[in-house]
Parts: sequence; structure tokens; C-alpha cells
Amino acid sequence: GADTVPQAPEDPLFGLMAAFKNDQDPKKVDLGIGAYRDDNAKPWVLPVVKQADERLRADPELNHEYLPIAGLADFTSASQKLILGKSSPAVQEKRVISLQSVSGTGALHLGAGFLAKFYNPQNAEAKAIYVSSPTWANHNQIFANSKLPVKNYPYFSKQTKGLDFDGMTSTIQSAPEGSVVLLHACAHNPTGVDPTQDQWKKIAEIMKQKKHFPFFDCAYQGFASGSLSRDAWAINYFVEQGFELMIAQSYAKNFGLYGERAGCFHFVGAPSPSAQEEVTRVGSQLAILQRSEISNPPAYGARIASMILNDDQLFAQWEEDLRTMSGRIIEMRKSLQSKLEQRGTPGTWNHITDQIGMFSFTGLNEQQVQKLREKFHVYMTKNGRISMAGLNTNNVDYFAQAVDSVVRE
Ligand code: PMP
Repeated sequence: GADTVPQAPEDPLFGLMAAFKNDQDPKKVDLGIGAYRDDNAKPWVLPVVKQADERLRADPELNHEYLPIAGLADFTSASQKLILGKSSPAVQEKRVISLQSVSGTGALHLGAGFLAKFYNPQNAEAKAIYVSSPTWANHNQIFANSKLPVKNYPYFSKQTKGLDFDGMTSTIQSAPEGSVVLLHACAHNPTGVDPTQDQWKKIAEIMKQKKHFPFFDCAYQGFASGSLSRDAWAINYFVEQGFELMIAQSYAKNFGLYGERAGCFHFVGAPSPSAQEEVTRVGSQLAILQRSEISNPPAYGARIASMILNDDQLFAQWEEDLRTMSGRIIEMRKSLQSKLEQRGTPGTWNHITDQIGMFSFTGLNEQQVQKLREKFHVYMTKNGRISMAGLNTNNVDYFAQAVDSVVRE
């Protein structure tokens, strides 16, 4: 009976959100969850999303029927083009199979289920997925739930607060041949640290030599550099290099469609005469996994995203909205760094502007994070990560002052 079920710990991030909500201090600052906020700390509905939404609601043909198992075809095909490029040979050669997913999490889960069932490397030990240390906490439980052993590769250097490239590459190099490696396509969560293009080339070279299987998690396209194509550079480099790979694509952040759960899963076959036939078989199995878990994906967010992706004028407006978000975040990075440097806060702070995307890995330790919360009503994850989007022109000075105080203690 239920008397044997142990109490599970609360999800740390959603627990943090609840604690923030309950805090009555007007100075409180939410740097926890990775959701974009405007300069007034309010959720931001992208103007382009508002426009698409209004158009959608005005459509007298709109109904609430089921989507197909693989989702809305206009959405999945536009998603392929967005992530692989308009003239992608992989798409033209029909060696990409795509299923609409329950946002990025659902795409990761679908990929995990597929690997658990069908991934059969010659060396059975290679049937494991390597994730960066640290990584988005949910990665560990998504893969573990699918009975896929999770291993780690080093990623972050505490000294430089940048990439531990040697640690990363030497672990990938020594992993059993044919291992699965999860890679953050851009704007690494939680560190904000991405490999350079030269480093990506080296990673690809090692992975090719070791016949590893790349699984890209792309949750921040357009958020890192402000350019959609630049943020997909690593994925496209790997595709050009002829890898067979998978991609989990989320539209939560870049469309601000968090709760609508719009995303896409892609399987890209390696170039070969039989590729098209192979990915068709892969797709048939993915359809069964999808059917048994969600039957068919949610429609509303995908309809909005699809309308924007398939309309040149809306697409251009979207790119502008993306620049608004990434631009404000970059301004906050500059502002925070300069405020800390002006105060002479002990330590170096250049990593705040060197890191990119939604997050910064500040280097603050667990004790300092706790003090920030107790004394200053600042909420952030205990690993020292802050969501840059939680900072604005009204609170950045207060936050810098709070950091300065706990660092000096
Ligand atoms: N991967 C990473 C690295 C993320 O940060 C996120 C969002 N926090 C996701 C995937 C997926 O999020 P969602 O399911 O909301 O698309």
C-alpha cells in the first residue's frame, strides 16, 4: 500500500519559486528560475506572440481536435529549418525525422526512451549518456527514469569560471567507444559557458574518432548571441561532419511560451544511400513511444510558433523581440560587473560578461547564497547560479551591494 512510499524531496527550483512568492519583503529579488522578465521584473509576452495569438483566436476555423501523433506538420518542418538551416542538405535528403514534443523536456524524454530501447553499441558498456558536470538538474532524472545510466564529463573550471576544456575532452576521449554525449547547443545551463567554435571542432573530432553519439539539447536558440543561426552553429557543424545525432529543441524561452509546452525532437541520419529508409524506421518507433506516453502533443503553443516561423514578416518581428531580450540581459551583465568592480568587491567579475545566455554562474558558494536569501531576500539556486533576466535597472544596484556584503563577510 501507499504506506511504503517514502516522501520525495521538493524540486529545488520550484521550491525556491514558492519561497520567493511567500516572502513579503518589497526588496526581494528573484534570480531563480530561468524565465525572461522585463525591466519591471514582469513576465513578458513577446509582441510577436501576442500578434500571432490574436490572429489565431480570430480564425473561425480554429478547433480543438487532436493533432497527429507526430504533431503539427507545418510546425515540425519549420522547426527543422530553424535549427538546421533553410537549405540544409540533411533536410533536402530527407534524413531528418521530427516529432513535436512536450517542450524541451518532452523531447529529451522521447530521445531517452528511444535510446533505452534501441541503442545497441558494440560495447554494451557504452550504453550510457555523458552529461556535463554541472548540468541542468532535470537531465539526470530524465535519463535515469528511462533506465539510461548517466555519467559525467567535467565542464566548468572553478579557477577561471570558464570552460574546463581539457577535463571535458579527456573524459570524452576515454569514454567507452560509442557512448552517448549530451551537449548543450548554446547558452549552457547552469554555467553560461560555451565552447568556442575551435573547441567545438576539437570536440567533434574526438567524438567522431570514438564513434560517440551526440544528443544536442537546444533550449536557448536566439538567446545566447541574439542570432538564431549563430546559436545553432555547433549543431550544424556536427551535421556537416556527417554525424548521426539527435536534437531536443525547446521554444519555451525563445518564444516565451513556457507553459504552452512547444518543442520538437529531431533525429538526423548520417549521409548514406539508406539514410532516408533508416530514419523512416526510426520515426515509426518514435511514433509508438509518443503514442504510448502522450498520444499526441499539445496544439496551442505549436500553432503560435508555427504561424511565426512560417511567415516572413512575423519571423522578422520575432528576431527583433529576441534581440530585445538578449540585449537587455547583456546590459544587465555589464551593469552588474561594473557595479561590483566599482565597489572593489573581492574577486574577479569578468566572467559575468564572458558568460552568455540566461544564466551566470557567479562563483558564490552555498553559504553566501544562503546569506543572500536570509539577509537580503535574494533568491537563487545554491550552486551560485543567477538568472540574469531577474535583474533590472531597479534592483541591480541592490543585488551588487548584497553580493559585496556577503563576499566580504
Ligand atoms: N534543457 C535545458 C538546458 C534547459 O535549461 C531547459 C529549460 N529550463 C530545458 C532543456 C527544457 O525546458 P522546457 O521543457 O521548458 O522546454
